[in-house]
Amino acid sequence: MPSRTASCHCGQLRIEVEGEPSFVGICHCLACQQRTGSVFAALASFSGPYRVFGKATEYIRAGDQGAKFRFRFCPVCGTNLFHTEEGESGGVGVAVGAFADPNFPAPRCSIYDCRRHPWVQLPPGTKAFDKDPT
Ligand SMILES: [Zn+2]
Ligand SMILES: [Zn+2]
Repeated sequence: MPSRTASCHCGQLRIEVEGEPSFVGICHCLACQQRTGSVFAALASFSGPYRVFGKATEYIRAGDQGAKFRFRFCPVCGTNLFHTEEGESGGVGVAVGAFADPNFPAPRCSIYDCRRHPWVQLPPGTKAFDKDPT
């Protein structure tokens, strides 16, 4: 199976995932805007297995629907690299930018579209959800 590696900026923390992502989306929620420092987050979900190299610092955030997300970021350079959902085994969400691959599959979903900056245009065919559909 083909594998991809996403890396923090300094290279200390890396994650290797296998196969194609089960989901690629962008999230405009204010938490993702503050978490990334950008105006939206681009995330790819993989069903696993995956391998992590290096040390990660963790931060747990409760989502609006009560789910808890455990974010892992590099303690050296601060890149927010991947996250898992508490109680959900196997899968992982990886920051798309960390693959440093402009040919990475485009997002199919736009989440928390109600928080989207008006100048951000969605690619044609993207499904937009006002909030989180799950
Ligand atoms: Zn780093
Ligand atoms: Zn979000």
